[in-house]
Amino acid sequence: MDLHEQNEMLARITDAFFAVNNDWEFTYVNEEASRLLCRKTEDLIGKCMWSEFPEAVHTSFYSQYQTAMHEQIRVEFDAYYPPLAIWFDVRAYPSSSGLSIHFHDISQKKGLSLQKEQHYESLFISNPDAVFAFDLEGHYVRVNPAMEKMLGYRSDELLSKSFMPLIPEEELAMTKKHFTKAAQGCTQHYETRAFHKNGMIIDVKATNIPIIVNDKVVGVYGIAKDITDENKNKTMLVQAEKLTAVGQLAASIAHEIRNPLTSLKGFIQLIERTVPEARKSYFKIIQDELKRIEVITSELLYLAKPQAQEFKPEQISRIIDDVVMLMGSQALIKNIELHAQHLEILPAIECVGIQLKQVFINLIKNAMEAMPDGGKIQIIASRPNEDFIAIQVIDEGQGIPPELIARIGSPFYTTKETGTGLGMMATMQIIHAHNGTLDISSREGQGTTIHIRLPVASSNPHH
Ligand code: ADP
Ligand code: MG
Repeated sequence: MDLHEQNEMLARITDAFFAVNNDWEFTYVNEEASRLLCRKTEDLIGKCMWSEFPEAVHTSFYSQYQTAMHEQIRVEFDAYYPPLAIWFDVRAYPSSSGLSIHFHDISQKKGLSLQKEQHYESLFISNPDAVFAFDLEGHYVRVNPAMEKMLGYRSDELLSKSFMPLIPEEELAMTKKHFTKAAQGCTQHYETRAFHKNGMIIDVKATNIPIIVNDKVVGVYGIAKDITDENKNKTMLVQAEKLTAVGQLAASIAHEIRNPLTSLKGFIQLIERTVPEARKSYFKIIQDELKRIEVITSELLYLAKPQAQEFKPEQISRIIDDVVMLMGSQALIKNIELHAQHLEILPAIECVGIQLKQVFINLIKNAMEAMPDGGKIQIIASRPNEDFIAIQVIDEGQGIPPELIARIGSPFYTTKETGTGLGMMATMQIIHAHNGTLDISSREGQGTTIHIRLPVASSNPHH
């Protein structure tokens, strides 16, 4: 084939094609290339590529061609050329005399895939679930707005950081295991917990999906949902169900006990008259004990149906002093010092006195039971601000492991052989009925403090 024929053939192949010498001067430009570049062949031949297309100097065309020329390797790439508004698919072949460059207009194909990308992009940006991508080491590569909201961090605070510091210690091993499995190609569904920026721990339902490119896992996608509220509602439901069960049980027991109790009381009174004077003291004891049974059954009935009790202004210091007196002798027997301390003159609070007494009795009993070898129990009442009275019940007992604190107050939760697991539940119920709060802090082996806050009486009951 002579030179003329060869040129003919090159001109006719559909690929756009041109060649440059080692000084980047055009030595050949076929028809298709001239069409795509919008330049006449004869205007280009002998001209330097970079002075004819100066806009290309700052694009990937420049770096790619330099590589091909200087390293004498074939390069292949997609790139956008803004002056012509065209996406090109380019292949450049080096030779000793320069480069030959083949290219296609792939704008149409690119446009479609760009549209597709935008499709997926909106799935990412507007997703109500947190969506994020990791590299294989578990560093965040991308996070969507829902993720920022869920954890309270801006994306720049997360990017290129590892997820691990965000997971509480006890969940970390399990969470890492799922991540690793996803990084090995297996999609994972699981529940874990994470730290919000504000320090709270949230419950999270997560899915980890391998990101696969050319048959290789290159990262992991995560989708996550905050299920803290959902879980709370679930536990509250369970708790409410248990409470109803307790209530029904309590009511029926109380009922069963009341009737025989009434006849016992009647007959005891009858017999009392026929008994010699020397034995009369026993009857006092019997009557006192029967009275106690009556009180207990009515308390059980209260648990079942908390009647609306009358709130009256009362001195909290009086209530505490009464309880301390009541419990004093028991404490003495157990070698426990029981002190009450009022740091300042406290205002009266709207309350049901006997219920608050019950609260302090429960708390002091628990404190005493936590100190089998004796020790000190302090009750400190103060007024940290206008609106609240704060009362702390502090013991030096065995303490409570941190993971068990949350369970205290659930019906029947007890660690004692003869415990009922109802004391703290009743206590919390009463405090809540008074619009107060109860918190527990504890150190194992050192002691426990129960913190109670009660609103000070005010003219506005909702205040
Ligand atoms: P009970 O006293 O019948 O066990 P409670 O509801 O009063 O039931 O208390 C529940 C559990 O909470 C107790 O079994 C105990 O494990 C724990 N607890 C409560 N108060 C204290 C305390 N002051 N020190 C240590 N543990 C406590
Ligand atoms: Mg108790």
